[in-house]
Amino acid sequence: MSQFQGLSARFDAGHGPTVIAWLEWGITLVSGFVMHTLPPLSTPRAEDAPAPATPATPAADRKCQGTCPSCASRGSGASSDTSSDASSNAAPGTASASAVIAPPTSKTLPLRVDARLLGRYDVNGPRYTSYPTALQFNDDFGASDYARAAAQSKRSGKPLSLYVHVPFCDTVCFYCACTKIVTGNRAHADAYVARLHTEIARQASLLGAGRTLAQMHWGGGTPTFLSLEQIASLVDAIRRQFVMAPDDSAEYSIEIDPRSAGPASIRALRALGFNRLSIGVQDFDPRVQQAIHRVQPRALVEATLDAARECGIRSVNFDLIYGLPHQTPASFSKTLDAVIEMAPERLSVFSYAHLPQQFKMQRCLPDDLPAGPEKVALLQTIIARLTAAGYVYIGMDHFARPDDELARAQAAGTLHRNFQGYSTRADCDLIGVGMSSIGRIGDSYAQNAKTLRTYYEAIDAGGLAITRGVRLTDDDRLRRDVISRLMCHMSLNFEAIEQAHDIDFVAYFAAELGELADLAEDGLVAIDARGLRVLPAGRLLVRVIAQVFDSYRRSAANTRCAKVV
Ligand code: SF4
Repeated sequence: MSQFQGLSARFDAGHGPTVIAWLEWGITLVSGFVMHTLPPLSTPRAEDAPAPATPATPAADRKCQGTCPSCASRGSGASSDTSSDASSNAAPGTASASAVIAPPTSKTLPLRVDARLLGRYDVNGPRYTSYPTALQFNDDFGASDYARAAAQSKRSGKPLSLYVHVPFCDTVCFYCACTKIVTGNRAHADAYVARLHTEIARQASLLGAGRTLAQMHWGGGTPTFLSLEQIASLVDAIRRQFVMAPDDSAEYSIEIDPRSAGPASIRALRALGFNRLSIGVQDFDPRVQQAIHRVQPRALVEATLDAARECGIRSVNFDLIYGLPHQTPASFSKTLDAVIEMAPERLSVFSYAHLPQQFKMQRCLPDDLPAGPEKVALLQTIIARLTAAGYVYIGMDHFARPDDELARAQAAGTLHRNFQGYSTRADCDLIGVGMSSIGRIGDSYAQNAKTLRTYYEAIDAGGLAITRGVRLTDDDRLRRDVISRLMCHMSLNFEAIEQAHDIDFVAYFAAELGELADLAEDGLVAIDARGLRVLPAGRLLVRVIAQVFDSYRRSAANTRCAKVV
């Protein structure tokens, strides 16, 4: 499963009943801008983030080097919003109405799970891995637009990020909504790899061969559907075209299916230069694994993890999903026990979006899926367990150990959001290669053909495979900045935005500030003359807050986004 672009596609392209939610919201919008009296916001850019602090001192990592979240500070000095402690969270299976379950440590922002507010604001909305989102891409954007953006990027000489999409999987997981091709025929990979070679060379010639590659991510599908020889040949092609930044300063990651990539494969991938892995775990409960058609015992994942650590992979991410069949807070707690014991550096915990009309394989799942309060109870359990174990809640679905680059970037105010979810590499232009991949070059986004046939036809015709995209307007750039700061730093300093975009914030966003009054009334956000701050109860709903600044939010396409919980 693609942690990044596949998930982006999964959620951004999801169908859902949003109209009522939007009507309700629309009716309650008010035009008066309420200036709430609050403590002043902190300072610009780093302004939006908590001050860096001394790392926590963990103790329970199996190979503890003082970084394990299990031992990190449980937090002290809960904010004035505190109404109960993590340990007093609802009993398994029960969603408590309101519980502060992640009081702030010296490094983290406070977080409150409020079941009532989650229910009220569980509307459909984009995940803002881009702005405008992929739903706004259009086919007016073509090769010549991309060539112009690429020429500009070439002149800038800034470092690059590369995304390689491998769409094949040899078996299907019933919950999957990624862009993938399920096949047992490995011969498909040969034809695909040949096109990737061609595309990489063409992209390099447009963007400038010899440029530094500071980040690379392989997603899918299942990248390890390709043989090690095929992966090696592609890495070699990339090295011929670009200068790969040194291992200790770059992120080279790949999504792994431990059912097909064992310890020997992990060691080989490390030798090729990959220094990060993402493993699709979802749930360790055998009953859930049977139901989702992804049987993957804990021992298999552990062997992969051990191999990764032994050969010097410096960061491992686990994907988990809640909302799957048979999951209860009690059962998922056991999965979380195992996860906490294994202590991956990062966790992505996604809410399952059930869209059987759109994704036929989802019809194979049992009907009795956790929903509503059951899903909120699962979310409460996840946040309580992970934060008590010392993981930092980064935002949206992401958790990281306190010493992980993501957590440190958030603390330093340098976190960014892109198609790779949360990222520490802001200054890179992103090249996407492979079927359906998305790139971001300068002020434009571009997406490749979404089917194998059209992707092959485009590459074989002698060009790139870009079929749609968008060129940002000044307003798009401004709103992208606002939304990105909200998603990453949970606050906005008006002056910083004014200086960056030459606007008067309050005048420009008068309507949006009026709309935010209701969210402020509900305790999701606090606003004063200097800026805006997402409150503990608003952190899980940050995309609802961000959506207020999205000028496309009422477009028909946006009704196809997944819900917040
Ligand atoms: S079918 Fe399974 S392995 Fe393939 S992309 Fe979907 S979730 Fe990943």
